[in-house]
Amino acid sequence: MAQPTGSERMERIVALAKRRGFVFPASDIYGGINGFWDYGPLGVQLKNNLRDAWWRDMVECPPLGPDGSPLSIVGIDSSIIQNPRAWEASGHVGGFSDPMVDCRETKARFRADHLHVLRPKRELEAPVYFAYLEGEPDPAVRTARKAMRGRPSVDDFDSLPLSELDESDRAHVWAPGASEAGTLTESRDFNLMFKTFVGAASGEENTAYLRPETAQGIFLNYKGVLDTSRVRLPFGIAQIGKAFRNEVTPRNYIFRTREFEQMEMEWFCHPSEAKIWFEFWTQSRMDWWSGLGLAGDRLRLRRHEASELAHYAQTGEGTFDVEYQYPFTEPDYGELEGVAHRGSFDLEQHQEWSGVKLETFDPETRERFVPHVIEPAAGLTRGVLALLCEAYSVDESRPSSELMRFPHRLAPIHAGVFPLVNKGGMPEIAESLYLELRRRYRIQYDAKQSIGKRYARMDEAGTPYCFTVDGQTVEDRSVTVRDRDTGAQERLSIDAVPRYLDERLSL
Ligand code: ATP
Repeated sequence: MAQPTGSERMERIVALAKRRGFVFPASDIYGGINGFWDYGPLGVQLKNNLRDAWWRDMVECPPLGPDGSPLSIVGIDSSIIQNPRAWEASGHVGGFSDPMVDCRETKARFRADHLHVLRPKRELEAPVYFAYLEGEPDPAVRTARKAMRGRPSVDDFDSLPLSELDESDRAHVWAPGASEAGTLTESRDFNLMFKTFVGAASGEENTAYLRPETAQGIFLNYKGVLDTSRVRLPFGIAQIGKAFRNEVTPRNYIFRTREFEQMEMEWFCHPSEAKIWFEFWTQSRMDWWSGLGLAGDRLRLRRHEASELAHYAQTGEGTFDVEYQYPFTEPDYGELEGVAHRGSFDLEQHQEWSGVKLETFDPETRERFVPHVIEPAAGLTRGVLALLCEAYSVDESRPSSELMRFPHRLAPIHAGVFPLVNKGGMPEIAESLYLELRRRYRIQYDAKQSIGKRYARMDEAGTPYCFTVDGQTVEDRSVTVRDRDTGAQERLSIDAVPRYLDERLSL
């Protein structure tokens, strides 16, 4: 069956996610708040499952290294608010900013590097440009129709980044939604860190920041971990948690938000081995995501251009992104995880600013050095988005017409258990099956509405299996099992149900 693509696909996913309790706009009853989202009962379970899978595969059971030996990675959970000097040392106070432009007329604010312009292909007396946010040219075409004679379509324009225009051309740019040209300001840097005050006073000296990444908490705990646990180089420290960025233009649903969650691991190694580890972790992270079901053409690896490198990566080998083809980036891709070679930048900076030695001593070579760091940094909430996009599919032959094909390991609900009707001994049998199965699996008991509606709800929740207790169960202890992916039903003995799940749910 043909599957919707692009903006239609995205709109349907957002609607299903809201209707079924995956993701809600934050403060919805107050009209929402831009860049913040809440996770409902199914959404938080999906997010927790992805988080747990990462922790399991990174900390509890990490991959084997390039030579086949087990790797050592430990976890931490650091504070969201740290000493503000840590953010000066890390370069975030001075350099963690995005270029921003304002529209003087509409007061809208845009990330300058996300703005593109449409330029008419035909020669005109005076230059004219229509600005739009990358990937969303329609409003610019509408503005062009008001501003130009004829009814131009998107094919009548070339598209180029705003940054490629000369200063003199800026006066001829129509900002998105503006009624005349020339309302965009010069671009200036906007720091993305959220500020807050610690304690009762609100002076500059009490200013603190909400962390914009979980990575720095790891560097701040490097010495503590090394001194107290038995890890020795090379080893990793992992952390999952909230991060906050005052994004200029949060957009694309939960792709770019102002509050989000990251799953980051800093791999500390000898400088001479950093290149090997960089390659190892890049491939390993790509394999992990594809092992979760984000396989095929929609997942790819891309090396960063020199101009894109973050302040810490300038001196290293660079950064690779694991990218996913989200419906709103089609046919292009958007970042899911970055694997960066951070060199010794962070530890050196903290060593200098704190005055505490962060070197390592190798007793064999009697060498003292600051380790190099390879960092796989993934977005947990962005991962949830990729999973929602990958799982969504349309099947008109089903009562729900839409279903979520989550991989078994990540499905919010593993199985549904239903009595066909609420009499004749069926609820009692179904309830006891439910109580048995829920000890090992995520099970939903549902006795309301028609069986078709219950299957439809489970399809939309992405539940791989449903077991129905009916009249025949009372006679011969057999139940119906329905497979989400095929919609096929078969009967099996109720006593065989736990084994049926054990065999199929490859967790
Ligand atoms: P981008 O270029 O998209 O702004 P970034 O390169 O600054 O992202 P990193 O600092 O490498 O991102 O962060 C690691 C991961 O954290 C990203 O790959 C992404 O999955 C996630 N992430 C970063 N910013 C956001 C955000 N505003 N909302 C949701 N997830 C984010």
